[in-house]
Amino acid sequence: ADDVDHIAEKILASLARPIEVVGRDVFVTASIGVSIYPRDGDHGEILLRYADMAMYRVKEHGRNSVRQFMPEMGSNAISRLDMEAALRRALERGEFLLHLQPKIELPSQRTVGAEALVRWQNPQIGLVHPIEFIRLAEETGLILPLGEWVLEEACRLQVAWQAQGLGHLKMAINMSARQFRQDDLAERISRIFQRTGADPTHFILELTESMVMHDVESTLAALRALKTLGVNLSLDDFRTGYSSLSYLRRFPIDELKIDRSFIADIHTNTDDAASAGAIVAMGRSLGLSVVGEGVEKKEQVDKLTALGCNQVQGYFYARPMPAGAFLARALEHM
Ligand code: C2E
Ligand code: MG
Ligand code: MG
Repeated sequence: ADDVDHIAEKILASLARPIEVVGRDVFVTASIGVSIYPRDGDHGEILLRYADMAMYRVKEHGRNSVRQFMPEMGSNAISRLDMEAALRRALERGEFLLHLQPKIELPSQRTVGAEALVRWQNPQIGLVHPIEFIRLAEETGLILPLGEWVLEEACRLQVAWQAQGLGHLKMAINMSARQFRQDDLAERISRIFQRTGADPTHFILELTESMVMHDVESTLAALRALKTLGVNLSLDDFRTGYSSLSYLRRFPIDELKIDRSFIADIHTNTDDAASAGAIVAMGRSLGLSVVGEGVEKKEQVDKLTALGCNQVQGYFYARPMPAGAFLARALEHM
């Protein structure tokens, strides 16, 4: 059993090499689920079903990886109560970590920053992605201490970049609705910057349209308080769904991130290309930086470049990765 992960990693590594097909490099990845006899079951049918469940976990979490079956997967999901208790313990035990995904400037293709994406390293289940716990953290209020931890950790990482000569890289952080509604949000954030010695001008706080279109007057006050700290503000998952242009113009924001749903078929679907193009044009006319998210193909990069988009982010360049790997990549691409 101890060798299984190692062997699976070797399979992944050998599949990762490009295969040449009529002069073009083709890439194949695998999602590997593992069950072990007799630990997980004593006959083939059960073992296959469990390996299958473990494999689906891998697929849900971005593919191209290995996972061993855990009894928790069998009960399909940890119960809400167990999950809540586990999340609380996770904060105390320091089981959260940040992965970083590079943000690439167009057309220069330079790395200009990263988005911090939280992960939970659960000792039983493995790496858990935010879709599985952010909503519950939000409902239970745990998002408040978790959000502060995220900002503090991101500050520590950015300060470490400074020391490595990468101080120009901007760090983007996701804010939850509940965090944003705190009356003393700006003071809380300011204290974290002071404590860590981080420079707020190197940070971008990502908000969503639904958060800011709620109660426009109090939003304006909150946004202005954040801006006085020196941070940059971004509207994430932007779809123009709620926003009216007049509000957007009044909001002191710096960046729009085009929702992934417009990017997926941007190179083939003229409606999506038109929507993305309209967002880029609007953003640029308001003096904002526009970012295309979820870019997986070169054709999407080309289309966004042609539309005048300022930055892109997505698997085409890099998946979110541990902080050490990001640092190594950034030093290499300097
Ligand atoms: P988001 O802020 O829109 O983050 C982008 C998500 O898209 C990330 O998922 C990222 O891994 C994924 N992604 C990036 N490039 C690609 C691509 O090329 N293709 C595809 N299919 N996906 C791509 P992730 O890390 O699972 O995060 C999901 C969401 O959870 C985030 O969406 C954000 O709303 C939330 N989140 C993550 N970290 C935090 C946090 O620290 N605090 C709060 N409040 N929310 C967070
Ligand atoms: Mg985001
Ligand atoms: Mg987004």
